[in-house]
Amino acid sequence: MGDDFYRELWSVIASGKSFEAIFLNRKKNGSLFSEEKVITPLRDAAGRITHYVSAGRDVTFRLEAERRLRELACYDDLTKLHNRASFFDSLDALLSASSERCQGVTLVLIDLDRFKGINDALGHDIGDQVLVKVAARLAGAVRGSDIVARLGGDEFTIALAGPLTEGDREALLQRISDQVEAPIVLPGMTLYVGASMGVSRFPDDGGDSKALFKQADISLYEAKREGRGRTKHYSPTLKRNAERYHQIYQAIRRAFSAGELWVAYQPMFDLRNGQAVGAEALVRWNSRTLGPVPPTEFLPVVHDLGLGGKLTDFVLERACQDLARTRAELARPFSVSVNMPADELHAHGLSGKLEALLARAGLPAGALKIEITEGALVAQDDGSTAALESLTRAGVDIYIDDFGTGYSNLGYLGHIPLASLKIARQLIAGIRQGASAGKIVRAILHLASALGVGVIAEGVETREELRFLEAEGCQYAQGFALARPMPIGELLHFLKTSGAGEGGAG
Ligand code: C2E
Ligand code: CA
Ligand code: CA
Repeated sequence: MGDDFYRELWSVIASGKSFEAIFLNRKKNGSLFSEEKVITPLRDAAGRITHYVSAGRDVTFRLEAERRLRELACYDDLTKLHNRASFFDSLDALLSASSERCQGVTLVLIDLDRFKGINDALGHDIGDQVLVKVAARLAGAVRGSDIVARLGGDEFTIALAGPLTEGDREALLQRISDQVEAPIVLPGMTLYVGASMGVSRFPDDGGDSKALFKQADISLYEAKREGRGRTKHYSPTLKRNAERYHQIYQAIRRAFSAGELWVAYQPMFDLRNGQAVGAEALVRWNSRTLGPVPPTEFLPVVHDLGLGGKLTDFVLERACQDLARTRAELARPFSVSVNMPADELHAHGLSGKLEALLARAGLPAGALKIEITEGALVAQDDGSTAALESLTRAGVDIYIDDFGTGYSNLGYLGHIPLASLKIARQLIAGIRQGASAGKIVRAILHLASALGVGVIAEGVETREELRFLEAEGCQYAQGFALARPMPIGELLHFLKTSGAGEGGAG
């Protein structure tokens, strides 16, 4: 209560009116309290002020409650950061100030990775402590002019104000993700979370807070979808990808039941006699709404939807039926290989399932091959070896797909049952471009022969590549130079008319 306050008090009551205000007073025990007080002047018969009556009551609790309510309306109770509503108010204000000053604003949406796991496994108390720590770090990572808020759950947002060079912005974003990723030490435990971030910029990506937020949200979604711990910046391409993903996501479920999926076969040839000895089964999708969609586009969506196993089952089933028919019509051995993601290798009872499939189609086990990419194999643990061994025991051969692109440590080859290597398309394509790819292909051929495993060159597109492979003693090849993937009817026709014995590669 300053001098002005008392001057005002005296001037009001001296003029004969009552004065009403909240006073900060001290209790007898020394503690402060807020008193709501009315001071009223009393006059005598002549109208002179003779006394003042003061009536007051302690309103400390009411004031505190009001303050808390105001705070709750603006701040997140747990982390003390801005809440969603107050963030948007502040962002609107920042945007209009920035546009007057012709300055940009960068909006960052942050979603914690692995937070749900912490909440589920360790309980909400621990989860809350993690959120509080992360919030404090985020607030500490940015500048005073920036706005940090918790939008709810494990979602945070930061508006970076003012002119920022590209380098400044990247440094700030890096600092933010470093802060989230640093170990979180709580009593008796150390926890790790990561951050996925979506970034949009004012005014380039959106002219108001709503648009800006939407673009950052699209970017965040893409960052999460591509894996954790990523930062994605909004761009029209990113938006198109997101829309395409969404369309595929909506359409793919129906693809299974509506019979829109089918299997194409690309023959593989024995280069010594030109005979087609087998074919790779390649899934195809003719969407009623989107037209043909390549597998590289829709397989990740299938995976995200948890339909990977269903897709593999579909291809396996079709491939076995088509293979039985092909072998019957050709009256000679022929094999089919089916692509399988590494995580499905671990599916319980896979070898039993394959044995049953083969038996139903009346096929010998050796007629079916499973293709697993090198990268996926290496990324898996020892369980892969066990899974591969059980396939091999069931008589199903393994092809290591895209060999030469997955990993530089070949030690794993010694630990898995013998398999054929499919030399990656990228390496084969390199043959016509430069000497070093040719040397690598030659080295792989030597390696395979030392290990006693077969080799198939894939993605062979030119005569020149074919000649090189033949000269180097590569026995099997597959690629557009020999035959493209085709429907089963065409495959049967191709196999019958291409001599089925000699000159198939022609
Ligand atoms: P991948 O297993 O490496 O399959 C070979 C891909 O290379 C096929 O593309 C094939 O059409 C293409 N190709 C064959 N010869 C040539 C060539 O000479 N030049 C070029 N540039 N490309 C050639 P596709 O069918 O689009 O499949 C792409 C990828 O999608 C496959 O790569 C495989 O990883 C995956 N995929 C395809 N079908 C299935 C399936 O049924 N199940 C699973 N899990 N994955 C599949
Ligand atoms: Ca393959
Ligand atoms: Ca391949």
